[in-house]
Amino acid sequence: MFTLIHKDKNSKARLGKITTQHGQFDTPAFMPVGTHATVKGLLFKDVREAGAQIILANAYHLFLRPGIEIIKKAGGLHKFMSWDNPILTDSGGYQVFSLALFRKMYDRGVEFQSHLDGLKHFLTPEDVIKIQETLGSDIIMPLDQCVQYPCTKEESRVAMERTVAWAKRSKDAHGEARGSLFGIVQGATYEDLRGDCAKRLVDMNFDGYSIGGVSVGESSNLIYNIMELVVGLLPLDKPRYAMGIGYPFDIVEAVERGVDMFDCVIPTRYGRNGTAFTSGGKITVRNATYTEDFKPLDPKCGCYVCQNFSRAYLRHLFNAKEMLGLVLLSLHNVYFFLDLMRQIRQAIKEDKFTQFKQMFLMDYNNQICA
Ligand SMILES: [Zn+2]
Repeated sequence: MFTLIHKDKNSKARLGKITTQHGQFDTPAFMPVGTHATVKGLLFKDVREAGAQIILANAYHLFLRPGIEIIKKAGGLHKFMSWDNPILTDSGGYQVFSLALFRKMYDRGVEFQSHLDGLKHFLTPEDVIKIQETLGSDIIMPLDQCVQYPCTKEESRVAMERTVAWAKRSKDAHGEARGSLFGIVQGATYEDLRGDCAKRLVDMNFDGYSIGGVSVGESSNLIYNIMELVVGLLPLDKPRYAMGIGYPFDIVEAVERGVDMFDCVIPTRYGRNGTAFTSGGKITVRNATYTEDFKPLDPKCGCYVCQNFSRAYLRHLFNAKEMLGLVLLSLHNVYFFLDLMRQIRQAIKEDKFTQFKQMFLMDYNNQICA
């Protein structure tokens, strides 16, 4: 499934390709998040045109609404949402941890109360695999147990042990069915727990490995250290996915450490809130400084928004509460992240990733656009 094409000579960054039943995607890859089977505010043709080769959808949300049976009747998730490219689905472990009104973990599975209607559900790791198989996901995540930050070592150990046991049951349940199955490395900020978890999952031989439970409130340096440690224990011939990462500066740091896949809601979430990511850092389009600023959001950006509209116009749309403002800013932000990945891949190809990272961070941190 994963082909390693080239390793950067001066860092651990790598260029690769992943093949799924719905086509291929290049790595390092960024997956726009389609929580409810939609990348908020955007047409899929625009998401595709912006350079998305794979998107992420959430099994937890789709299980609760509209329900798996409806998606099954529609012919699977790809048909239901009309996206004929790869889809990765999240197992719901993180959503149960962060959204459910109530949750209780047992060795057998998780009991939780829906954040939508308060109804109680019980899901086993086997159920979660079946749900994603029914959706027709190209890349499937097993149920795992997240912990909050900070968390005692004993709590982290219990969650990690359960995650490993559930990973084994998920692998047995999935067998040779369609869709690649990843293992999720947990263990909070404890290096020995992370290391133990990674080694035991590698012994089970998953199709790829995710680093879970990062970016839940810990410092950036702690996240980078954990990623470096975990990646060092993973096989070279399998993809590595940092779940929920992140900001542009986090992505370049993770790529440097050998991570191949990313997802994050921030391009669309920030877009809806009026914040644009640019090569010169973040800008808030509502600010009065842009009232008569007829430059594009990011003069270096090649997206439809930057080719056609000014900061002044976008500011006007947000002030007038016009929905086009949300759409255009989301589109630019998604393009910005996907274009960052294109530039990263090109830099790795030319063995210039380290220089690229330095230049990118210098411009980004200096707020040259603001
Ligand atoms: Zn743009």
